[in-house]
Amino acid sequence: MHKVIVVGIMGVGHSGSTIVSIALGNHPNIEAVGELHKLPRFGWSRDESRRCACGAPVYLCPYWREVYVRWTERVGAEELGLYIRLQDLYERSDVAWLRVLVASRLHTERFCRYAQMTAALYEAIRDVSGKGVIVDSSKSPMRNYALLCTGALDLRLIHLVRDGRGIVWSKKRPRIKNIEGGIPHDSAAVSALRTSQEWMFTNLKSEWVARQAGAEKARCILYERFVEKPDVMLQEIGGLVGEDLSPVAALLTTGNMMQIGHVVGGNHVRMAGQIALRKDTEWTRHLPNRDRRIFWLLAGSLARHYGYRARGEAPIPL
Ligand SMILES: [Zn+2]
Repeated sequence: MHKVIVVGIMGVGHSGSTIVSIALGNHPNIEAVGELHKLPRFGWSRDESRRCACGAPVYLCPYWREVYVRWTERVGAEELGLYIRLQDLYERSDVAWLRVLVASRLHTERFCRYAQMTAALYEAIRDVSGKGVIVDSSKSPMRNYALLCTGALDLRLIHLVRDGRGIVWSKKRPRIKNIEGGIPHDSAAVSALRTSQEWMFTNLKSEWVARQAGAEKARCILYERFVEKPDVMLQEIGGLVGEDLSPVAALLTTGNMMQIGHVVGGNHVRMAGQIALRKDTEWTRHLPNRDRRIFWLLAGSLARHYGYRARGEAPIPL
């Protein structure tokens, strides 16, 4: 059987990955599943506060129950706990980079099991959805590096970048728990300094992982450019994914609503049932100058490298 084609979206939280993946999921051969890394831990392990985009707690959603059945047929009935522990080892800890590098080169038994169980998960989704391409917006470069090193998937990577000042503005506002609205817990406000650091390091790590995948298998996409010129960006992503994305481009350029499937984690906009692509320029009006300066001092050189400019809204040359 062919390896499953998986499109991994990497980048900083609040970069627009939920929207980009939902857009891709409006193609007839593409299934957008959201932040799949959360499914075993928070979905299947019966966390009432984790909702699928269909509104059901993930573990009660018929779609994800069916995926679970197909997955257990491949990996065994009582293996969920083991898989969560393997995810901890290879996707979550600070030393996971080194652990993945070594374990994948040595083909350790544990890493091979992780690879097999991960591939089985995507195969189960392919079976249930009937679609050939799966978009996973888990975002973590560490996880995507682990996926790459399994060698068990046909992995294509989108490194999604959004202007860090927009992310600083998003994260400055605390989020209040709203389970039905797709926010499983309260989140405290994050300082401009911390978000700027995270923006820089996560983008640098994502660039490194993209380089490991090779130029043919990875693209860097600016979120603002995607919103501004979805047709051009979708053509580029189509080349990466191996699908003609012009039906999605037609949907987006006419401002039509995008349909949302069983998206398992990500921005709360996934709970809306359908959504239109729209510009988010709120930060350009509201973000205090002090925060803009903090971001630019810390991360300005990398931001400039992506095409952002110190003053005002980013000009986005194509
Ligand atoms: Zn669902």
